[in-house]
Amino acid sequence: MHRHKSSSYARKGHRKEPIMTEALFDVCITKCPRCGKSYADASWYVAEIGSDIDCGVCKNAFNAKKNITDRMLLKFDLDERGRVSGVSLSKSLLP
Ligand SMILES: [Zn+2]
Repeated sequence: MHRHKSSSYARKGHRKEPIMTEALFDVCITKCPRCGKSYADASWYVAEIGSDIDCGVCKNAFNAKKNITDRMLLKFDLDERGRVSGVSLSKSLLP
């Protein structure tokens, strides 16, 4: 994973074209084994910590890490102020 250095926003004399940067978000999709409700959470929370999640629908507590259905890298397109102007799938991280 790579991070972009901050843009040249502070530089004097803006160029006309906005300087686009991007931010990446590693996200896991989990599915409640009881009712089938799907959730999207940050991978550091789901895969690294491996904590339980309380299902908001059926109140079932399940281990998120054992119920991962997909893991994706999302790419957010940002303008020079850091505002999101678009989002796209970068790549699947599932082995
Ligand atoms: Zn549920």
